[in-house]
Amino acid sequence: MMTLLLALLAAFAFSRPAVSETILVHAGTLLAVPGNDPVSERTLVIRDGKIVEIRDGFISLLPGEEAALIDLSDQFVMPGFIDLHVHLTGQSGDNSRNERITKSDAHASLRAAMYAKRTLMAGFTTVRNLGSRGEAMFALRDAIAAGHVPGPKILVAGYSITPTGGHADVHGYRAEISAVLASSGVCDGPDDCRRAVRLQVKRGADVIKVTATGGVLSNTNSGTGQQFTDDELRAIAETAHALGRKVTAHAHDKPGIDAALRAGFDSIEHSMWADAETMTLFKETGAWLIPTVYPITYVGDTPEKMKQGPFRNLPPASMEKLLRLGRQPRDMTKLAHQMGVRIALGTDSGVSPHGHNAREFLEYVAIGMTPMEALMAGTVSAAEAGGIAGVGSIAPGMAADLVAMSKSPLRDIEEVLRLTFIMRDGIVFKNES
Ligand SMILES: [Zn+2]
Repeated sequence: MMTLLLALLAAFAFSRPAVSETILVHAGTLLAVPGNDPVSERTLVIRDGKIVEIRDGFISLLPGEEAALIDLSDQFVMPGFIDLHVHLTGQSGDNSRNERITKSDAHASLRAAMYAKRTLMAGFTTVRNLGSRGEAMFALRDAIAAGHVPGPKILVAGYSITPTGGHADVHGYRAEISAVLASSGVCDGPDDCRRAVRLQVKRGADVIKVTATGGVLSNTNSGTGQQFTDDELRAIAETAHALGRKVTAHAHDKPGIDAALRAGFDSIEHSMWADAETMTLFKETGAWLIPTVYPITYVGDTPEKMKQGPFRNLPPASMEKLLRLGRQPRDMTKLAHQMGVRIALGTDSGVSPHGHNAREFLEYVAIGMTPMEALMAGTVSAAEAGGIAGVGSIAPGMAADLVAMSKSPLRDIEEVLRLTFIMRDGIVFKNES
């Protein structure tokens, strides 16, 4: 009981809105903009949740001002991490197919709040939730922004845009149940798909997620090939852009990836079967690759491991699609990196456990990125790929989203798993430095 009470108190303490007092952070080593060299001994001046100034040396007081001091003078300080692909309303192993018909939207929202906190406590101060049912994620996004519950800033896609019977449609339930679960992201033909995109924006979507091809976890044997036609993809991308939204495609097989790139998509999620020709198309269009490597490491990167791992009870239709993947996510990401494709970090967390998000950095180093390149993917690059203003680097005017480690992740990337300090919008969520 006492433990529960303390946990609740901690939760409420976290949820204070950003205070207007000045906060000074002494940063021993500061990686303000990943991609640039770190500098030593700086003071960050923070007010109203934003960085207002970066000063040389350790200053303790501003003339005529009171300030709270946070001493990270022996720590490595950098921007909070960004994950462009999560699904906070559930997690594999939740028995989600059953819960979809037994649990309410309100229940999904509460569960998502728990996963959002885990994500924040892994150092991720901004995430994109790429596909969710009902109102749960919109409510959670707004509740976090208002300071009611702890969590990262969230960009919400709402329902994924999907064709009838496509990857993000409802599969394998009896017809009456499917009707109740119907998604307002289902559309067929360019005009209908314009309507579906507009509807998600009307519902509050910050970004448009599209299932351009089939996917692994939908319970259907229709494969991972292209599902939207070229003209549908063009209509979707044009409509999203006309409404000021980034548009990103879930895509596995090459023809679907290529079609989305040609249609003007801003990014491709997964991109499993992209080849060298597709990588060239990425570079020509300027689109970002969001490779989501870690889930397959978690699930098992060989058929043997997959059959015994956390996904061993997948329906046969899904298992058949999963078994094809193997080392492909790593091999594909390695090729993309070698060819100079722009890569931003996304994990598809919810497939892998929430809170494991930073393990994606380790995957990027494993395929040949330098630690600095990996850190860029999850900070400055993710902000640019997602069109997310005010995050991803530390500079005057940017959000005070900070993480700290006791040793440099540029020497050992695994330091990202050992955070000592987490701040989002000037609110301290962890300080064990
Ligand atoms: Zn996903």
